Amino acid sequence: MNIPQLHKLFLTSSRISTDTRKIKDGSIFFALKGENFDANEFASEALNKGAAYAVVDTTLENNDRFIKVEDSLKALQELATFHRQHLKIPILALTGSNGKTTTKELFNAVLSKKFKTVATVGNLNNHIGVPLTLLSMNSETELGIVEMGANHQKEITFLCNIALPDFGYITNFGKAHLEGFGGVKGVIKGKKELYQYLKKNEKMLFLNLDDPLQKEEQEYAQNFTFGSTPAANVQVEYTSHDSFAGIKAEENEITGNLTGAYNSANMAAAYAIGTYFKVPKEKIKEALEEYIPQNNRSQIILKNNRKIIMDAYNANPSSMTAALDNLSRMDLSPKIAILGDMFELGSMAAAEHQEIAENYAKSEVDKIFLIGSNFAATSLESEKVKKFATFEAFKQWFQPSEFNRGVILVKGSRGMALERALELL
Ligand code: ATP
Ligand code: MG
Repeated sequence: MNIPQLHKLFLTSSRISTDTRKIKDGSIFFALKGENFDANEFASEALNKGAAYAVVDTTLENNDRFIKVEDSLKALQELATFHRQHLKIPILALTGSNGKTTTKELFNAVLSKKFKTVATVGNLNNHIGVPLTLLSMNSETELGIVEMGANHQKEITFLCNIALPDFGYITNFGKAHLEGFGGVKGVIKGKKELYQYLKKNEKMLFLNLDDPLQKEEQEYAQNFTFGSTPAANVQVEYTSHDSFAGIKAEENEITGNLTGAYNSANMAAAYAIGTYFKVPKEKIKEALEEYIPQNNRSQIILKNNRKIIMDAYNANPSSMTAALDNLSRMDLSPKIAILGDMFELGSMAAAEHQEIAENYAKSEVDKIFLIGSNFAATSLESEKVKKFATFEAFKQWFQPSEFNRGVILVKGSRGMALERALELL
């Protein structure tokens, strides 16, 4: 079966499944191979559970509801591109080291005030998530917003060739996935693949002029800019109130529900994009003020008279630094940080953990609890700092009296699952 035929079949239900635990009725099941499983083995189960067809890439028993292809993953990606070509809607893609999901949610909050949007669900931003996002759009969709994640070179180019974006924004270039990209220069090159794609196809860039690496893209004419300079299309002032991020743009004062100064830039980007797409100003403001962060990203939790900044969703050296700088600037005291290891740093791991530990032992932060084997291995002795090789060790030691006042930042890589600390606090 070729891709146009598969697409016809797809349009009969417009549903895709890839997980036998979550089969949608009448869907096409794609048997993908993971590290530990080969979903071809579950193809009949998928049909039994309600899938209409199963796309498989091994030879299975005869069944006219099996669609045999060369490579199921490739078929999913090609189907998504074919579908996208027939949608004829603008697609806005975003990538960057930190803040993609948050910014994507803010873009969606703003743009859905005017358009029927479909945006990436959660964090489905890779070579499977991007196709699934595109396939969740239909003839009623007016604008698509696609988050693209990458941890190595050429990945963004690959995702662009599937999603064919018309607009793009890069949140920032930071120290994330250093291992796969080969250092900071590698990160910049890898993320800028989005700009390369857009420029080659004469599409539009959104640029934050406060970021020198984005500013240099201004020589390409099709751009729309924001930043604290009057030269920007949308000039913004960064404000924050009571540790919530905020912006002032064109006389509109906007305070969101996100903590962290870095989220002001994410809000500014959303304001600028709303402006570009002519969303009424009061609707932009409303959207940015209504948005409540979820999933342990920059969430503020008030518990027993303390302010807990739950940012346990993820961490890398740049987002860790941004979060700790933000904590240092807060009015409350004591300022307490519970930090977990940062993953995927390869040969830079020891130095990056050492740098964070040393810098903030000297900062305004009053107490620092370091959890994980990388942090535990840092050579640092300070009264302020306590180190634990595992979360279990921290839990066993845990003394409530150390945490009964002030503001507490909780941040670490996903694998550290530091949201577990909330039960203790
Ligand atoms: P992932 O790579 O997991 O998809 P992401 O890029 O989608 O991550 P978010 O999930 O939005 O990022 O945010 C993760 C964390 O990054 C936030 O909780 C916050 O600590 C930090 N962060 C968000 N925006 C910025 C920013 N502009 N600069 C630095 N750090 C940021
Ligand atoms: Mg994300």
